[in-house]
Amino acid sequence: MTDAFDFVVIGSGPAGEKAAAMAAYFGKSVAVIERDPRPGGTVVSRGGIPTKTLREAAMYVSGFHRREVYGVGLQLSTSEVLDVLRARAHDVTSLVADGVAANLDRHRIEYINGSASLTPDGRVSIDVSDGSVRVVTASKLLIATGSRPFRPDTVPFDDPAVDDSDSILSLESIPASLVVIGGGPVGTEYASIVTALGSEVTLVDAGPRLIPFADEEISERLAAALTDDGARFIFNAPGTTIRRTENGLEVGLPDGEIIYPEKVLFAAGRAGNVEGLGLGEAGIDVDNRGHILVNEHFQSSQPDVYAAGDVVGPPALASVSAEQGRIAASHAFGLHVVDELDSLPTFGVYSMPEVGMVGLTEQAAKEAGDPYAVGRAFFADNGRSRIAGTTTGLIKLVVCRDDKRLLGVHILGEDAAELVHIGQAAIHAKDDVEIIHTTFNTPTRSEAYKFAAYDALQDISGHRL
Ligand SMILES: Cc1cc2nc3c(=O)[nH]c(=O)nc-3n(C[C@H](O)[C@H](O)[C@H](O)COP(=O)(O)OP(=O)(O)OC[C@H]3O[C@@H](n4cnc5c(N)ncnc54)[C@H](O)[C@@H]3O)c2cc1C
Repeated sequence: MTDAFDFVVIGSGPAGEKAAAMAAYFGKSVAVIERDPRPGGTVVSRGGIPTKTLREAAMYVSGFHRREVYGVGLQLSTSEVLDVLRARAHDVTSLVADGVAANLDRHRIEYINGSASLTPDGRVSIDVSDGSVRVVTASKLLIATGSRPFRPDTVPFDDPAVDDSDSILSLESIPASLVVIGGGPVGTEYASIVTALGSEVTLVDAGPRLIPFADEEISERLAAALTDDGARFIFNAPGTTIRRTENGLEVGLPDGEIIYPEKVLFAAGRAGNVEGLGLGEAGIDVDNRGHILVNEHFQSSQPDVYAAGDVVGPPALASVSAEQGRIAASHAFGLHVVDELDSLPTFGVYSMPEVGMVGLTEQAAKEAGDPYAVGRAFFADNGRSRIAGTTTGLIKLVVCRDDKRLLGVHILGEDAAELVHIGQAAIHAKDDVEIIHTTFNTPTRSEAYKFAAYDALQDISGHRL
């Protein structure tokens, strides 16, 4: 077993896996070190895959949306529902973790299960899961250790009724009532899953709206749709307190209201996994939020040490982390496979209804000061959506008024995170809104693009019917 590698990667999440695979594909000797029992990172164990599996299972068992069409609602008891949800999440995450293991194996990457740290002389020391210690060297090193939920001291996480986005996955029963603190993607997704399962959900956020980076109209329509489903939203509530008193778990709002939920989910922020890595001794600079500072090639303050993924900070998405890892590996070995990040990443929020977005929001277009137009098509008017009974939401296009170029696409509704890629491709191709003249399958939700484009053209011509 060699202890000298071309490339050593700490962490097997999307950033680590994709970087390792690229380097190995181009003939480098690669080791991946992972401290979790199985590979894949947060996305497999606590993030995108388990939460989206829960969402899918929750939609199915609750008959969510379609219950209005077929008159079929929740058929199972809440304990049976939780069993179904857990079993599905376990099966799907195991399959995905196996897929990551197979990918590492196929690329002949040495996988070391253990916890890694850097030694001051630039080597990597590993507390291997079998109890041994192994030291390896690398020409190039990638730190892809991800992030964990941010846990401020003011929140009593020692209370079993207070969860973060990791611990909520071990929920033993579906709470009758839940307060979610944080209206970002994670908080919003959980709020909508638990609402679908029949809990009384209140989401509290310090800011004025859900998903602050989304188009304002989409964020407002999402809150309205979730309100219709029974969730309650309290915005502009900084300094909300959580404490256990003789009356129970108390959530105190700035206006004096007190809520007594069965559970609280604190989902406001993430912190980089840098503790115990020995970064200070190794001369690697970190900011005050535990994010490793990197340049555009994802090189840290030590040029042979790269960092990618959540550990370098926002946007903290699996999709972007994977691309950052590939850019790091490409630069480390002069491969020039991919030199820079996609300027047009898509964002998906898997609430019910879903959100998909790419490019400029209406607010950003307004701030830029260039003349723009907006086109909308509502799924309530779309054949496929009517057939499926999923008529909530719309496709909203932001278009340059001068040359009709598509600038942004914002979707709320079923399959939004999939549909948005049509818009992404069109913006990348610098297409204009004349996509109205292309032929789309009928009936499909994608057809709504044509109607939204038609609406934008009417806005530009000043002749809206
Ligand atoms: C609830 C939730 C839902 C999410 N949903 C989505 C989504 O729908 N879409 C999306 O794109 N993103 C989503 N994300 C974000 C996504 O999970 C992360 O952006 C992504 O996993 C980051 O990848 P990464 O490779 O940087 O790190 P991670 O996936 O966090 O992997 C880092 C790995 O490094 C390991 N590690 C850490 N320290 C050490 C050490 N010292 N030695 C050895 N190993 C170590 C960890 O065990 C971990 O496995 C979600 C996140 C959460 C929490």
